[in-house]
Amino acid sequence: MALVVQKFGGTSVGDTDRIQRVAERVIRARQAGNDVVVVVSAMAGETNRLVKLAYALHEQPIGREYDVLLASGEQVAVALLALAIQKRGVAARSFLGHQLEIITDATHGRARIESINAPILRAALEAGEVAVVAGFQGIDPKGNITTLGRGGSDTTAVAMAAAINADVCEIYTDVDGIYTSDPNVVSSAQKIARISYEEMLELASLGAKVLQTRSVEFAMKYQVPVHVRSSFDDSEGSWVVPEEAGMEKVIVRAVTADKNEARISVLGVSDKPGMAAQVFGKLAEAEIIVDMIIQNASKKAQRTDLTFTVPKENAVQAQRLMEEMAGELGAAEVRADTRIAKISAVGVGMRSHSGVAATMFETLSASGINIQMISTSEIKISVIIDDAYAELAVRKLHTVFGLDAP
Ligand code: ADP
Ligand code: ASP
Ligand code: MG
Repeated sequence: MALVVQKFGGTSVGDTDRIQRVAERVIRARQAGNDVVVVVSAMAGETNRLVKLAYALHEQPIGREYDVLLASGEQVAVALLALAIQKRGVAARSFLGHQLEIITDATHGRARIESINAPILRAALEAGEVAVVAGFQGIDPKGNITTLGRGGSDTTAVAMAAAINADVCEIYTDVDGIYTSDPNVVSSAQKIARISYEEMLELASLGAKVLQTRSVEFAMKYQVPVHVRSSFDDSEGSWVVPEEAGMEKVIVRAVTADKNEARISVLGVSDKPGMAAQVFGKLAEAEIIVDMIIQNASKKAQRTDLTFTVPKENAVQAQRLMEEMAGELGAAEVRADTRIAKISAVGVGMRSHSGVAATMFETLSASGINIQMISTSEIKISVIIDDAYAELAVRKLHTVFGLDAP
């Protein structure tokens, strides 16, 4: 007998037929003698539909009401799944974020979970019920509904697993595991049997949306084994686990693309102490997360160009903030480009092998792809390129790093 958390994504509960299949799978796990907590996302397409509605009425909708709206998708899904389970003679109870006291901070649209009232969940399990928990939502300390950012049901699931000390957190999705690149883009991608938390954390934050980044942070912090697998069959998926001996032998584990960033350039700013502090202080005040930064010396004396990337959804706001500051900074011009992609190669083996960057740059250059920005860490290299070349770049790098299926 084990304690398992099973999370089903939007496609897995996309219509009533699929919800019935999920109910049957949950019941199988229950009848095998396990205690089961199920976490569900909104039905496929629903969150996108709600986001669109919000933007149709307000150009910057993210705030309290946005979260009230977005959280509704998961409310529908938990009720439907609980009904489908009950119809099959098994006790089930749905829980919304506030009913489990999933407390988050107050950052609407991308709140972070701070605590969960695990005893409420345990009581349901002890009463013999399947707990069906709404993913993606919580409440802030004042009781306002919050959401955890796109893909946030993964984080709800891992946080539940950590809170009740589950034996495993199973993530059921529309692919049968974690691949060396998005299998919907790179047909030669291969399934990875076991991947370290650290590598998965990089992959997730660099665009592999199969797991939300925060969920991997939680899994790593609380050492929750995560099993990513198909909701359509019983095949073994991919395990996310602590780093194991031998994992470093693979130099590049996977290649990702992320099209969710925009590049902002502030041209001809006065090159004097405090300039960067002023710029990034302003962005921090507006709670805009800055990823890559480069500053290059411009030809004219005492003038420099500052370029950085921000999430696409913040591009307009970041550009506006820079334009407002242009006078103070002595900047000549502010430019924004949303047609960029960040392409990355990730692998713990990079710690002990050199030459990955050189191979990456040569490969892109041979395909005529210009590199606009570069950043590296111990286990990853990322470049910014024109987004029209994203798929080509990913395929070329996947091949050159030996990741193609035989
Ligand atoms: P869910 O709705 O179940 O949460 P998501 O759409 O959020 O599913 O995540 C699954 C998708 O992640 C897959 O359909 C796939 O296109 C994408 N993906 C991106 N990179 C990878 C990768 N390296 N391995 C597997 N899937 C990936
Ligand atoms: N429904 C939310 C989204 O689409 C959360 C999730 O699916 O994980 O982002
Ligand atoms: Mg997802």
